Amino acid sequence: MNIGIVGLGLIGGSLGLDLRQVGFKVLGVSRHQHTCELAIARGVADDASVAFSLLAAADIVFICTPIASIVPTVKIIIPHLSPATILTDVGSVKTPVVEAITPIWSNFVGGHPMAGTTQSGIDAAQRQLFAGRPYVLTPVASTLPASLQTLCEIARSLQARVYHCSPSDHDRAVALISHLPVMVSASLIDACMVDPAVLKLVQQLASSGFRDTSRVGGGNPELGLMMAQYNRPELLRSLHNYRHSLDQMISHIQQEDWTALARILQQTQLARSQFTDFE
Ligand code: NAP
Repeated sequence: MNIGIVGLGLIGGSLGLDLRQVGFKVLGVSRHQHTCELAIARGVADDASVAFSLLAAADIVFICTPIASIVPTVKIIIPHLSPATILTDVGSVKTPVVEAITPIWSNFVGGHPMAGTTQSGIDAAQRQLFAGRPYVLTPVASTLPASLQTLCEIARSLQARVYHCSPSDHDRAVALISHLPVMVSASLIDACMVDPAVLKLVQQLASSGFRDTSRVGGGNPELGLMMAQYNRPELLRSLHNYRHSLDQMISHIQQEDWTALARILQQTQLARSQFTDFE
């Protein structure tokens, strides 16, 4: 089976490395010729080009461009695809992508491999990026069951944990566990810079706790901006909920209600273990 990948960066490049490893032929398309040459040299793709015509031989195409380019890219590649091609994407927000593509390519299944690093571009591509990570597929009523099944099997071949949900549930969930943390972490860094009298000392004393809590807020600004622009209603909902939690904490501390504060901290200590597999 031939797999086309459009956008040979961190996600597209990492997909190419693993898909070739498990036996697929990978046809890569990217914006820059240099990236295509690197893709072949590094084993990301069997063949790569800036020309979308390469995708004519693909059975499945993964769109791995930045979110803003996903829908425009699909519109450009459609004339080059064979009618049976399964199209999927890897964008971090699903509702606007699925709503725009489903009417123009019925054999489309939205997807989101939930793995990444702070790096970007083909130099950041790595093997096994998706192993043990969630890979969410977001079928809608018109999704062909066979196409969904094919993509499930491909995601499992990457050793990912595959989940299905609606595009809107996906966006609501990732607002809470991915997009809200970026905004909270960025606000934390911002808040630590308000007191010039101790700024230097604050920077010198920052250690592992600050490293962990500031990591996602200190990442690529373009990604954070795209989360806010493309998942705006759900991000706002989660920010309002978060502000409510903060207000409660402020109130307990102002009133020296240590019992109430302790109750919250005990609940969050217990709750955290149910969210994650990262320890
Ligand atoms: P990235 O490293 O910047 O890679 C995107 C690549 O796409 C660029 O390197 C660029 O390659 C190419 N490109 C850009 N515009 C293009 C276009 N119009 N046509 C063809 N190629 C184009 O970004 P990424 O982190 O892999 O993210 C890609 C997608 O994955 C996004 O939709 C994002 O939401 C999603 N995602 C990201 C993460 C994460 O943590 N980073 C996690 C899950 C999902 P050239 O060198 O050729 O310009």
